[in-house]
Amino acid sequence: MASVITKGCTKCKKCVEPCPVDAFHEDADTLVINPETCIDCGACIPACPVGIIYAEEDLPDNLKNFKDINLEKSKTLPIISENN
Ligand code: SF4
Ligand code: SF4
Repeated sequence: MASVITKGCTKCKKCVEPCPVDAFHEDADTLVINPETCIDCGACIPACPVGIIYAEEDLPDNLKNFKDINLEKSKTLPIISENN
């Protein structure tokens, strides 16, 4: 299981610092979480000021497609860390 960034990301990056692994990737519009890196610790979920990060098992039906979006985008986008 992994956490999933859904729609409405403002790219504030407040979710990045609490993450114990480098699970976040970025494009021009959004951050995404690499499900192969995420250890499902949940630390990023309360850190998001707009509340758009969900544990995979808690995804509402209308946002379930973001699981695949996070997976596909994270394959090609650069990793970001709290230092960049
Ligand atoms: S659930 Fe934990 S490991 Fe996964 S992206 Fe969030 S902070 Fe990182
Ligand atoms: S904290 Fe939320 S809005 Fe900010 S970058 Fe992370 S997912 Fe996007």
